[in-house]
Amino acid sequence: MKKDHEIVWDKCLKVIKDNISLQSYKTWFEPIVPIKFKDSVLTIQVPSHFFYEWLEENYVSLLKKVIKKEIGSEGRLEYSIVMENNASNSSPYTVKLPTTNKRSVKNSPVSVPLVASEKSIRNPFVIPGLKKVNVDSNLNPAYSFENFIEGDCNRLARSAGYAVANNPGGTAFNPLLIYGGVGLGKTHLAHAIGIDIKNKFPNKTVLYVSSEKFAHQFIDAIKNSTTNDFIHFYQMMDVLIIDDVQFFAGKERTQDVFFHIFNHLHQSGKQLVLTSDKPPVEMQGMEQRLLSRFKWGLSADLQAPSLETRIAILEKKMYGNGIDLPPEVVEYLAYSINTNIREMEGALTSLLAQASLNKKAITLDLAKQMIDKFVKNTAREVSIDYIQKVVCDYFDLPIELLKSKTRKREVVQARQIAMYFSKKMTKSSLANIGAHCGGKDHATVLHACRTVNNLSETDKQFRSYLEDLEKKLTIQ
Ligand code: ADP
Ligand code: MG
Repeated sequence: MKKDHEIVWDKCLKVIKDNISLQSYKTWFEPIVPIKFKDSVLTIQVPSHFFYEWLEENYVSLLKKVIKKEIGSEGRLEYSIVMENNASNSSPYTVKLPTTNKRSVKNSPVSVPLVASEKSIRNPFVIPGLKKVNVDSNLNPAYSFENFIEGDCNRLARSAGYAVANNPGGTAFNPLLIYGGVGLGKTHLAHAIGIDIKNKFPNKTVLYVSSEKFAHQFIDAIKNSTTNDFIHFYQMMDVLIIDDVQFFAGKERTQDVFFHIFNHLHQSGKQLVLTSDKPPVEMQGMEQRLLSRFKWGLSADLQAPSLETRIAILEKKMYGNGIDLPPEVVEYLAYSINTNIREMEGALTSLLAQASLNKKAITLDLAKQMIDKFVKNTAREVSIDYIQKVVCDYFDLPIELLKSKTRKREVVQARQIAMYFSKKMTKSSLANIGAHCGGKDHATVLHACRTVNNLSETDKQFRSYLEDLEKKLTIQ
């Protein structure tokens, strides 16, 4: 049996749902719990003071109308925000009332009589002591803009980062989400933005934190019943940089608390910088409401750098460390490791270590021996079967279709792409590749390779398929 307050609130929700977007409804109304209906006063429980403020600012006229419609003109709405210090409190974010506030009642929900006319009590929960504090920004000075080599692969992300650093919170790039594969410079760029802001605006509170650390701190805060302190701490930042947000996937409560911190900061014009190993559309296990916020600002990707950029990065790194290597060695290194800058730097370091241990000069031969070992350890040999699997997964086709004789357009194209990569990445003969792909002959494979080459020169979309696939095939 539904209780009165539930019935009334359900009716209200129906009207509300028809009047706002589904997204807003889910974000701002689904989390509300009706708790009491007495003397025409409906009491609803909201998860945080921020939530309450948001409702009041954005939905007060809608709420007033709905209450009038469903309860009558004498109807009133009260908010209940659960107090902290209540062990059984299920809400992860609670509001600490200012200690000076006479209204403070321990261990019981506090009701805030709403409705717009009562402006005097609006926002009674200004948190005291939210003054500037000295926060260690956790920034690594080596990861500066000066040390971040610009290339086509990172131009957009770098210039957006630079714009953000010149005017934190004041550009359309909020949040700025930097995404890209492993070792392509996300962390470096995120630090560079923070460092530059600190230089330009020394009074701004900047914090860099990995998502992992954030999540652990949050768990600790729950254990120690200090979630308020946790939230307040993060809400104090002028610039919050969170690295590898994909780590939040599947962690609902962490996402929840981050969502609230995000909203608070964003609404107060503070800057958020996030990094992730994939674009928002591909993040799984992430709440929709968070993903939609990630898209509010700018998502900029980091691609694998070109050979020239890789060489420039190596040269910068050598220069920084006072090392000199023959150009052919640098080139060979940049040639051999092409998808992951961290790995390339790792190879450089081992090369130097090797050379100094053995007291040998670094010649191209030594470099080759070393790097080949390095590359072999990290790169897996690809087979035709593996290529076919990756291509089919990518286009969402069953592998049997690829190996069949069907001439359906999408299948033909996927088959040609698989042949093209098989030719490019394996040592198999054309005839052998054809045999694997639905019993075709070597001429068909050759034709496929030409078609793919031609298309990749003329069709941008097609080229991006190829690039994606190539990345998938080489990163493994
Ligand atoms: P990610 O966070 O994307 O995995 P990192 O930011 O940790 O990658 O970068 C890996 C390494 O590559 C770091 O040592 C970083 O300094 C270096 N690096 C990446 N991109 C660049 C660049 N454009 N210029 C100079 N160094 C770079
Ligand atoms: Mg990183």
